[in-house]
Order: sequence, then structure tokens, then C-alpha cells
Amino acid sequence: MRKILVAGNWKMHGSGTMVQELLEGLLAGADNEGAVDIAVFPPFPYLAQARSLLTGSFISLGAQNLNPVSQGAHTGEVSAGMLLDLGCRYVLAGHSERRAAYGESDDDVADRFEAALASGLEPVLCVGETLEEREKGETEAVVARQLDAVLNRCGITGFERAIVAYEPVWAIGTGQTATPDQAQAVHAFIRDKFIAQDDIIAGQLRILYGGSVNGSNAADLFAREDIDGGLVGGASLKAEDFLAICNVVA
Ligand code: PEP
Repeated sequence: MRKILVAGNWKMHGSGTMVQELLEGLLAGADNEGAVDIAVFPPFPYLAQARSLLTGSFISLGAQNLNPVSQGAHTGEVSAGMLLDLGCRYVLAGHSERRAAYGESDDDVADRFEAALASGLEPVLCVGETLEEREKGETEAVVARQLDAVLNRCGITGFERAIVAYEPVWAIGTGQTATPDQAQAVHAFIRDKFIAQDDIIAGQLRILYGGSVNGSNAADLFAREDIDGGLVGGASLKAEDFLAICNVVA
């Protein structure tokens, strides 16, 4: 049985006060320490503050993006090595907001995934279809294409130390969560795709669901066979809301 991971993507939200209150609230309120893995993904400027609050705790740190180049003339960018220096364990690759608003192609996402792995970070590869793609019956083709871009680059062994997050774009920030059946169907498709290459790696791979997860729907989602946790946006911004998700797993 894979251990549930609940990961909070704060997107571009935060302030020094919020970071302090939120993380102190999480540290005080998680009543299942050890039962689930918990990670938070603050914006870059708050990683150092988060690290000082979380060091030695059961909550891990992740970043929302990285530049695949290690250093150089890339004004405004952040490298994998810098994220490691700040105590990050995870980094998102290919969040749909990065793909849609910042033009990250499947190839760009593979670059980021590859750089993360090479540095020792654990990439969280985000995949998922738009509503239009779902309505045209293209969900599996889109998810397969996004996965193949990384599989072709890094191979199946690239997923020994990585996580996949299925995030249907139509469910992100909309309050319209995929039903457990809809999510499980895509998760099973993803798992089968990995099983075809290596059933041990596929069996250990954590596949998170993301898209309007909250304290009311998390238990039903996490109970499904191939759903190994959640990537949570809006409901990760308040300790109470995030804990309601983390604590559904006893
Ligand atoms: C996300 O940011 O990846 C996400 C899933 O957001 P939300 O939970 O708000 O839908």
C-alpha cells in the first residue's frame, strides 16, 4: 500500500505572517503524524522562512517551478541547486498554469523534470486535460502525450524517485472536483501505462489527484485504488482546511 501524500501548492499566495500562522497551525494540528506524508509548496520568497519553521518536522518542502539550467544569465529564474540549498525535497514540473500561462511545452516540462532528478530533487509531474479535450474524448491521449514527453527523455527509471499528479484543468480552482470514478479511471490508465514498462516502479509510483480537493471529498478520492493522495491548491492556504484533508487518513 502506497502512503498517501498531501501536497499543498500555495501558487502566488502568501505573506510573512501567513507563512508563520499557516505552518505553525499545521505543525500543531496534524493528528496523524506519520500516517500521511505532507508537503507544502510556497512561493520562492518564502522557502527560507518555511524551511526554518519546518526543519526537523514531519512536513516536507517543495517549490513550484525551476529553471533547468544550473546557473547563468537567466534573470528572474531559480535553479534546482538553489532549491536544494533552501531545503526543498520536491518540485512541481508542468503545472497546468505554467503550461497555459507561461507557454511551457511538453519538452520544457521534460527539461525541468530531468534537471530536478539530476540534482536530487523529486519532481512532481503534473498532467491533465482541458474541458474541451475531455469533451472530445481526448483525455487519455493528452495524458499519454504529456507522460511520454518525460518517459522518452528520462525513461521509466526516472520515475523511481518521482511523483505524478493527475490534475484535470477543468477541476483546478473551479470547485468542480472530478468524481472518484472519473479520477480513478485516469489514474488506472496512468498506472497501466507504467506497468507496461516496469511493474515494480509502477506499483511504487505515487499518483496524486489535484483539482478542488477539500475536506469533504478527500476521503472518497483517497480511498480509490490508484489515488495515492492529493495536490491541493486553494484548500492548502488555511491550516484548518488543509488539516481537514490531511487528517482524513487515520
Ligand atoms: C492546484 O493548484 O494544483 C490545484 C489543484 O488547485 P485547487 O485545489 O485550488 O483546485
